[in-house]
Amino acid sequence: PFDVLVIGGGPAGAAAAIYAARKGIRTGVAAERFGGQVLDTMSIENFISVKETEGPRFAAQLEEHVRAYDVDIMNLQRAEELIPGDKEISVRMENGAVLKSKTVILATGARWRNINVPGEQEYRTKGVAYCPHCDGPLFKGKRVAVIGGGNSGVEAAIDLAGVVAHVTLIEFGDLLRADDVLQRKLRSLPNVDIIVSAQTTEIHGDGNKVNGLSYKDRTTEAIHKIDLEGVFIQIGLVPNTEWLKGTVNLSKHGEIEIDAKGQTSVPGVFAAGDVTTVPYKQIVIAIGEGAKASLSAFDHIIRTSVT
Ligand code: FAD
Repeated sequence: PFDVLVIGGGPAGAAAAIYAARKGIRTGVAAERFGGQVLDTMSIENFISVKETEGPRFAAQLEEHVRAYDVDIMNLQRAEELIPGDKEISVRMENGAVLKSKTVILATGARWRNINVPGEQEYRTKGVAYCPHCDGPLFKGKRVAVIGGGNSGVEAAIDLAGVVAHVTLIEFGDLLRADDVLQRKLRSLPNVDIIVSAQTTEIHGDGNKVNGLSYKDRTTEAIHKIDLEGVFIQIGLVPNTEWLKGTVNLSKHGEIEIDAKGQTSVPGVFAAGDVTTVPYKQIVIAIGEGAKASLSAFDHIIRTSVT
């Protein structure tokens, strides 16, 4: 059995594993895809102390750092069930194996919801983006659209309006759903257009990068095309917690509820990173949270075990 078993091998899971291993306790990491979301990222420019790097390179360095310690890495392993227990917590894997540990750190991350229109996959990282904090500056002086009129879409549009030349916000429903104060701020900006009742039908490009977007006006059924260089999709970030329903407490958005130490509702089970209620889903934050959850797990072990 492990002292600390980390589920998830993104930035949060890697940090948790390193902090645990440095305490000299038995540490394991099981991940469906070691590296996590950064594998799908092109350029990373906001991981403090690294001026610029690429996602796959960053992921390889995460793994190299974890491998420098005595950590049992189980890659390509999907967890399917968390089974709480007094002394030991079990995690049942897809392949049937049951891993046991004194403490478990959940770091299964999240995924951006796709709009599933032609061009979205093809132009991912070539004009189609999901994270304004990450990719906004790449569109300096250019025209972009933000798809989604909830809080995250409107916040993204306000944020981007300060960086890019022009923002078109596109909402499917007939009203924006964001808080009033955000909507007022958005409407006060000179370089923003808001289009409601609009269904995005296609993202266009020249084969290398995005050059336009088509939408259907849902009141008239007419198709319109906008020329632009970037599209930010902001229709939700989905935490990877489907397998945890009924065990740890989740928020209404499906995020794992944690306290300031990363403790979940189940004793001995901690969580970190994009999968939790902690706001602002960023690498630098996930790494800090992973370290914190790991120190909390260590604290839990020394308080609960005599051997
Ligand atoms: P993740 O990176 O999502 O890792 C989750 C891990 O859990 C993965 O290993 C996954 O395979 C595994 N997993 C999931 N479910 C299971 C399961 N059931 N069993 C076992 N393992 C499982 N942030 C920045 O700070 N700067 C950027 O420039 C930046 N650019 C981004 C660009 C894109 C396109 C995307 C998608 C995100 C970007 N982000 C960026 C956000 C950043 O990638 C995340 O905040 C960060 O990766 C979160 O780390 P995490 O460890 O919490 O989760």
